[in-house]
Amino acid sequence: MPKKYETGLMWFRRDLRVHDNAALYHALKSCKQLYCVFVFDRRILDTLPRVDRRVEFIRESVLSLDGQLQKLGATTGSPGAGLLTAHDDAVNAVVRLAAELCADAVFTNHDDEPQLLSRDAAVQAALEAGGKAFHSFKDHVIFERQEVLTLAGKPYTVFTPYKNAWLKKVDDFYLRPYPVEKYGATLAPAPQGMRSIPSLDELGFEASNLSALKIPTGSEGGAQLFEDFTGRMAQYKETRDFPAVKGPSYLGVHLRFGTVSIRHMASVALSAADHPSEGAATWLSELIWRDFYAQILSNFPHAAERAFKPDYDAIEWESGEKAKALFQAWCDGRTGYPLVDAAMAQINQTGYMHNRLRMVTASFLVKDLGIDWRWGEHYFAEKLNDFDLSANNGGWQWAASTGCDAQPYFRIFNPVSQSEKFDAEGKFIRKYVPELAQLPDKALHSPWLAKPLELAAAGVVLGQNYPLPIVQHDEARALTLQRYAVVKKA
Ligand code: FAD
Repeated sequence: MPKKYETGLMWFRRDLRVHDNAALYHALKSCKQLYCVFVFDRRILDTLPRVDRRVEFIRESVLSLDGQLQKLGATTGSPGAGLLTAHDDAVNAVVRLAAELCADAVFTNHDDEPQLLSRDAAVQAALEAGGKAFHSFKDHVIFERQEVLTLAGKPYTVFTPYKNAWLKKVDDFYLRPYPVEKYGATLAPAPQGMRSIPSLDELGFEASNLSALKIPTGSEGGAQLFEDFTGRMAQYKETRDFPAVKGPSYLGVHLRFGTVSIRHMASVALSAADHPSEGAATWLSELIWRDFYAQILSNFPHAAERAFKPDYDAIEWESGEKAKALFQAWCDGRTGYPLVDAAMAQINQTGYMHNRLRMVTASFLVKDLGIDWRWGEHYFAEKLNDFDLSANNGGWQWAASTGCDAQPYFRIFNPVSQSEKFDAEGKFIRKYVPELAQLPDKALHSPWLAKPLELAAAGVVLGQNYPLPIVQHDEARALTLQRYAVVKKA
């Protein structure tokens, strides 16, 4: 097949890998020579705190991507291939580089977050004004946008029928890896002077505890975690709800930044699910939730800012100084509810929070403290290594009952019974709230009910080294039911 373009530019974003990368494959096939770039986008980076594990994760993964491109070039007769980088506003950088490199076309993978669609539209307009093409491909999900629709031709807003339609539609065509490696000879040698990857310091960031946490980065890190998880996948259904157990995959950050291929993950889970393994089928369901929320955001972008169900925008959340103080206690893990506090310590210290605890803490913030779900959503967005707008927004709107296919508003998690059920022996709580570690199991879930002697023996002084509960769950529950009365009929 004749090559369509003399020179192309591949722009990596949330797809930091060479293997099975849709845009890279199409770019290599359509161009006689291809440059590759990653932009450390100032418009995003400048809004972040100066210590951010994700920036470090991205930088490490970019280093790995550079190595993968060099290796592919070296083994396919294109020595000198590698990744170009820029630290700039992405629109400026991509348009400038396309001009400097005389690229006829820019290739990239879709990113359907509303603000990033606007960014891409700006890049496309500027390129086209200069006579250059812009091509974008699906890579991040199995099915996107309007690929899975109801019989009436509408996007699904309820998960189970969406999942059934997803499973009916999926086949080898959608899961087959893109054979990027066959076309490596098209990689162009990277021009001198454009190749250096900025240090964290040059990017304006300080080191986080990413390496102390031993979070593996890059495609190698993703592959290592996936290999480890495939040995546990069959047990996923039984283990996934217990935060002290190594049940989930911990692949969220790799799926977020595309250091693993969703096609690979889904096809392994699908073939294991066929065998049959309930664990694999349950894990596959989680990957389908990921697609589900991505298509929700894409088809209902208002959800990024407002309740998915508009009637729920009428809810009056707590406000003023009292709300700010309650919110701060939640952020700091000082609510007096040990499981909530341990979960908040986990996110604050590691950037990860177990899924069960994301549900518990989100429910607690919205339905025990009466705080607007968007406050919590923003806090998670700042802290989570795997922060993804569609999944985070979907998760928060689910917990707040404002979302599509959400938890009914009258279902309110009891933070004590959740704790007794999912951390019965208190292993998780003891790890993250060490001031309670010496309490007996029974007292650990609700220390305010512990006997004075038990507290004294454990060195716990409520109100001093561990807070008294900032709200009473039963009272808070009654208030929440009143608060949601405005949407009773919704
Ligand atoms: P595993 O249990 O191993 O699941 C595998 C993958 O499936 C995850 O990595 C993720 O990509 C996907 N997945 C799992 N559950 C969900 C789900 N409910 N919705 C969408 N995708 C899912 N997930 C994010 O990726 N980013 C977020 O910002 C995010 N915020 C959340 C906020 C709240 C309030 C809630 C309740 C959930 C949120 N989730 C989010 C979903 C889920 O908690 C995480 O994906 C999961 O805990 C990540 O850990 P893991 O990789 O070990 O997951």
